[in-house]
Amino acid sequence: MTEIIVVPEEEKKGLNFIEAIVENDLAKGKNGKRIQTRFPPEPNGYLHIGHAKAICMDFGIAQKYGGCCNLRFDDTNPTKEDVEYVDSIMEDIRWLGFQWKNVFYASDYFPQLWDFALALIQNGKAYVDEQSAEEIARQKGTPTQAGTKSPFRDRPVSESLALFEKMNKGEIAEGAMVLRAKIDMASSNMHFRDPIIYRIITHPHHRTGTTWKAYPMYDFAHGESDYFEGVTHSLCTLEFEVHRPLYNWFIDQLKEIRPEDGDYRPQQTEFNRLNLTYTLMSKRKLLQLVQEKLVNGWDDPRMPTICGYRRRGYTPEAIKNFIKKIGYTKYDAIIDVALLEHAIREDLNVKAPRVSAVIDPVKLIITNYPEGQVEMMETINNPEDESMGTHRIAFAREIYIERDDFMEDAPKKFFRLTPGQEVRLKNAYIIKCTGCKKDEQGEISEIYAEYDSQTRSGMPDSNRKVKGTLHWVSVAHSLPAEVRLYDRLFIVENPGEEKDRDFKELLNPDSLKVLHHCRIEAELAKAKPLDVFQFQRLGYFNVDPDSKEGNLIFNRTVSLKDAWSKIKSKE
Ligand code: ATP
Ligand code: MG
Repeated sequence: MTEIIVVPEEEKKGLNFIEAIVENDLAKGKNGKRIQTRFPPEPNGYLHIGHAKAICMDFGIAQKYGGCCNLRFDDTNPTKEDVEYVDSIMEDIRWLGFQWKNVFYASDYFPQLWDFALALIQNGKAYVDEQSAEEIARQKGTPTQAGTKSPFRDRPVSESLALFEKMNKGEIAEGAMVLRAKIDMASSNMHFRDPIIYRIITHPHHRTGTTWKAYPMYDFAHGESDYFEGVTHSLCTLEFEVHRPLYNWFIDQLKEIRPEDGDYRPQQTEFNRLNLTYTLMSKRKLLQLVQEKLVNGWDDPRMPTICGYRRRGYTPEAIKNFIKKIGYTKYDAIIDVALLEHAIREDLNVKAPRVSAVIDPVKLIITNYPEGQVEMMETINNPEDESMGTHRIAFAREIYIERDDFMEDAPKKFFRLTPGQEVRLKNAYIIKCTGCKKDEQGEISEIYAEYDSQTRSGMPDSNRKVKGTLHWVSVAHSLPAEVRLYDRLFIVENPGEEKDRDFKELLNPDSLKVLHHCRIEAELAKAKPLDVFQFQRLGYFNVDPDSKEGNLIFNRTVSLKDAWSKIKSKE
């Protein structure tokens, strides 16, 4: 059966091609003008950013066109599935800001699927094959060469029925028999060459226990679950395009035995997967990273999982904006991860309060500032949003600055601190460096400077021009903190394409750097897990849930440098 999908002039109307198809279906009155979608994850891992793209599409279409979207767990392989994954998937979808109408499980349909399989056998359209999976694979043929028919293909219906029952009762060993659809061993579509539709699995199922021993294959369960639920638009990724004729073939068979369903029919439509540079999204490989402790769990902030991004400080709004920007197409490509980071910055720029933290501190003593004096300096929480107000930061004679903001012998264009040069201390005074002290190893242990008392905000010389502005915190008033800096998890741009190297060899050995002796301004004492801040000049950081009272831990969500803006401005 060939089908023609008319894709109308969506671009003119600012629709993506799937919205255009949906509008076209609504205009034609297809399926009684009902719109129903589903998000169908297999509960065998945590959701990643690729799933977020599918979620935005599935839920987005339902929202936009007044339909509904259900969450359906595709739980047809009990050996890999677990309730831990079910729970995390629900949490992550909610966090992204979507709400399903119902939660369904493919396993809810096992009885209906069983009956459908029986009907196929009875109609001479399925048979029990006693060959091994390897033997069946060998007989598949090639796209240009027909496959070989199984010796069991034409066995009597009664025999298949009896064996199918036995398969499900645990009377047949795992792998000894399968149920195959009887379609066409010479079809140019390999999926039509008598696909396996049931196999035996003895491992108990997380919902149905040991009730079943014969389990439906994905291709068989998926479209039928769509049908039983009343899905109108079954949206999935491009790799399922070649499965679509089989999807439709099963629906045709179902409709033959269920004429009462009228002309209702679900339609599968495929869109491009999300691939990101320096990122892997295979659940199997992500699971391996977790199991082999190459990362610290599914929610490690270096993981491309939704929970990893959440822990890292990414926001649902930023993730959704990113997905809107990349859109939906009919061809696979790889997206620069810098675009995702750009979306995060855009969102945090307007949301994150500005605070001061020094992550690699060195002490600076302002020798002409009175000992014991403390001034509370007012600082704006967010220049992008006046309503976020101000807070105060303590200034004193001894402060910390970043070690790399000082150089003893600086080149000409070093506009930070070096002997004889002036810089402004953010929200405070202009200081001039007068020298430094080194320890036995030759490392700078203290820096000295003098301040100009007329340069504080509101004072006569406050507008005097100096090239550099440094952030700082007071030695006595700041608090200790741990800071975790993250870099790309993989060192190659497209780790999925490196076929002849094990993906674990491609891990970036410097993807996590932990700094233990950071100092943060006192204002941060009341920060709670997942709160996000901009550390002036350093980037966006959030509070890690590992934090304990008196020992705050911050994750760097993203640095301030925007590689994507640079790429764009070059273009
Ligand atoms: P894997 O192949 O790594 O096991 P999967 O893609 O099969 O993962 P599912 O749980 O079956 O994982 O996916 C649920 C839905 O999410 C499917 O509709 C699938 O098409 C979609 N999806 C998965 N990965 C991506 C991706 N990278 N981009 C867009 N959609 C995706
Ligand atoms: Mg899948």
